[in-house]
Amino acid sequence: MPIIVMKFGGSCLIDKTAFKKILNINNIYNDVKKIFVISALSGITDLLLKTAQKLEDTKITDQAISLIEKRHIDIIEQIFDEDSDYYIKAKDWIDDKLSELDDAFADIKEFGLEPYYRDYVLSFGEILSTYILNQYLLSNGLDSVYIPANKIIITNDEFNNAYPLYDLTNSRIKNLLTPLLENPKKDTIICLTGFIGRNKIGYITTLGRGGSDYTSTIVAHSLFTVGNDKDIKVILWKDVDGLLAINPKYVPESSLIKNLDYGEAKHIANFGAKILHPKCLEAIEKFKIPLEIRNFDNPLGDDFTEISDRTDKEQIKGISAVELATIITVISGSLVDVPGVLAKIFKTMSKKKISVSLVAQSSSEISTSFIVSAEDSEKALQALKKSKFFSEFFEIKGEDVAVINITGLKILETRTKAEIFNALDKKHIKVKAISQSYDELNLSIVINREKLSDAIKIIHEDLYEEFES
Ligand code: ASP
Ligand code: MG
Repeated sequence: MPIIVMKFGGSCLIDKTAFKKILNINNIYNDVKKIFVISALSGITDLLLKTAQKLEDTKITDQAISLIEKRHIDIIEQIFDEDSDYYIKAKDWIDDKLSELDDAFADIKEFGLEPYYRDYVLSFGEILSTYILNQYLLSNGLDSVYIPANKIIITNDEFNNAYPLYDLTNSRIKNLLTPLLENPKKDTIICLTGFIGRNKIGYITTLGRGGSDYTSTIVAHSLFTVGNDKDIKVILWKDVDGLLAINPKYVPESSLIKNLDYGEAKHIANFGAKILHPKCLEAIEKFKIPLEIRNFDNPLGDDFTEISDRTDKEQIKGISAVELATIITVISGSLVDVPGVLAKIFKTMSKKKISVSLVAQSSSEISTSFIVSAEDSEKALQALKKSKFFSEFFEIKGEDVAVINITGLKILETRTKAEIFNALDKKHIKVKAISQSYDELNLSIVINREKLSDAIKIIHEDLYEEFES
């Protein structure tokens, strides 16, 4: 039987109606084995983090815990009969977990917000919501088990942004999940907490904000590796139909991207409207496991995004933007053909933990430009200016800019690029730098920040036919 890993985000857990919609979706996907990956109730992860960062005032801490309690009690009061076993179990769970959270806050106050405490605290959102959903499924006569993901997803030690160790995760999944999924006599739904894992010594880690998407694809990856059934799909239920070609803020009539391949999706997830966790495609690309982004409010709709190894090559898939960027340029008249200049630039950035997103260098090597986020720009400029090597031989400049990314296999055609530059020229928009790596299906264009909206509009207008409609 096919397996579907479905992720329900916080916006799918807001009230009784939303929980009923989950039941409805469960009915629609009747003939498949299911794993539900659940996020925290919306806003809870933020609240946990904010509270952990500000523990000086006990009153604020107590208020936050009360609020977390209230949000969850509100839900269980809506979805369960007050005296039912399910209600009592959920209520006891909330009480127990909040007292553990209280203890964690006390430790943090004493020892400081170390990275492992941070991830531990953030894990409570998923641990509460998933347990509640599991009780809800049981109360509706379904067979369901609650599994905290720290039992099966083993990660490296990078708290806050952990990566799975697949060999270890695979064997846990083989031992704990596949027997449940492959039992022909039972139709068990697995309710798995999103976002969290654990390292080898047992500390809870998190996969990065919005990481439940990633949990879903990691589980799909491991099931594919160790399970018998290779017919696996991931569905992410969201409050939108899927990925849009352009943020509607720039082009209101922007169309939905119906299909794209993993490479295209990675670019769009990276720059786009934060609908898809950029890391999550890594886990499924190798096995060509398809992923759908679907609208929670319209589960039977035809409008959704499918990411797979199939794509329509005749299209531009999307335009996205980095709105607040700074281009830093390092120029030398004398030091051409000297090995190691780029290494020194990137080492300086890496020491300051600054991420470099675009690089352009003329083959004459006279000048090198790269993009950092506007937030990091001062730090980056200062670091270069303070370095003896750069201050002696180089001129260093920084300018506020925006970056447009145009993604899709169509971008490989020279004519498409010509059309893009023509469009920009019509609006007298100056291209300050460009970058496209070898055979890359993404073209990045650096322009004046004020021109961003005009630029996206005119590219969309002029190349309209190249988009899906
Ligand atoms: N609750 C976590 C967050 O808000 C993970 C998720 O929502 O996917 O980042
Ligand atoms: Mg969330």
